[in-house]
Amino acid sequence: MNIPFVNLYAQYLSIKPEIDRVIDSVIKDTAFIGGKYVKEFEQNFAKAYNVKHCISCANGTDAIYIVLKMLGIGQGDEVITVANSWISTSETIGQTGATPVFIDIEPEFFTIDVSKIEERITAKTKAIIPVHLYGQSADIKKIKDICQKHNLYLIEDCAQAHFAEFENQFVGTFGDAAIFSFYPGKNLGAYGDAGCIITNNEDLADKCRMYANHGALKKHFHQIEGINSRLDGLQAAILNTKLPFIHEWNKKRLENALYYNELLKNIKNIEIPPIRTNAKHIFHVYCIRTDRRDDLQKFLNENGIQTAIHYPTAIPLQPAYKHLNYKPENIPVAAEYQNEILSLPMFPELKKEEIKFIADLIMKFFNE
Ligand SMILES: *Cc1c(COP(=O)(O)O)cnc(C)c1O
Repeated sequence: MNIPFVNLYAQYLSIKPEIDRVIDSVIKDTAFIGGKYVKEFEQNFAKAYNVKHCISCANGTDAIYIVLKMLGIGQGDEVITVANSWISTSETIGQTGATPVFIDIEPEFFTIDVSKIEERITAKTKAIIPVHLYGQSADIKKIKDICQKHNLYLIEDCAQAHFAEFENQFVGTFGDAAIFSFYPGKNLGAYGDAGCIITNNEDLADKCRMYANHGALKKHFHQIEGINSRLDGLQAAILNTKLPFIHEWNKKRLENALYYNELLKNIKNIEIPPIRTNAKHIFHVYCIRTDRRDDLQKFLNENGIQTAIHYPTAIPLQPAYKHLNYKPENIPVAAEYQNEILSLPMFPELKKEEIKFIADLIMKFFNE
């Protein structure tokens, strides 16, 4: 049996008539950039989150960059973030001229270790960007408390956590702003690049909208130099069509994860992903840990099972951050886990028998 890591075509087939119809409409309306589909998506997404503003943009990376710039973060500033994430979280900090300060992950939940944040706050620190990694909330209330105590901005990276919750509140609604990616493989994915910012701060919302649109809120009236970071009409229309299904898809992901957990929990050589009891995990990624990771990945691959690693090198240990001089001992948990983590196939359309097949293979691997 061949099982892909994700199957975006299966999802398309499940809503094909709606998607085909809406793509047709965008073309007929020639609403390619901006226009009613983009506006409609921004309204729907803001409504779904019960926030005042949704500013769409070209991708999740731009969304972080735009927020940082419009909060006035730049040269000489420091922004605290987490050692295990996709590089967008830190490269955008660097692009503003500020310096990313990396905190290790907590051993249990893979998200930023809150107990290690305060010792790294300096007079230069301006913001914290926690990442709700793999679809699970960071310990966000404690992070918010730290931000309030030290007068720091809180920007939530929700690229992997669409409609995940912490204590019955959506992640993305705790901070000054949150960013989302709608990269095709994300829980809510477009058919190309797409992203957005949500916030209840009207001034920040206006600034972000302006900056993403060449520094203009009104055509030909450029208040500042901005960038070109737009969501296009086709992506907006596709996202609008998919948005009503997101809770059902998240639920299926969680069911799949719980089934994996049930089948894998008794294999003593692996750690299954723990779920916070006070949070709702939406399983963007189903990540196990084993000290025989590379061999297991190879074995699964030889048996037709596609897997992935999120991520094989902790960000501060990447060549791009050589100048910051991080050593594995500065981020011991992330440095260890990068060699042990393995993401198994995870998508809403994954079948029970496929999960069983994968679990049986893993059992076979450890029994040989
Ligand atoms: C995907 C992702 C991003 C960036 O999103 P793009 O749309 O690919 O630019 C940022 N942060 C995290 C944690 C991500 O997983």
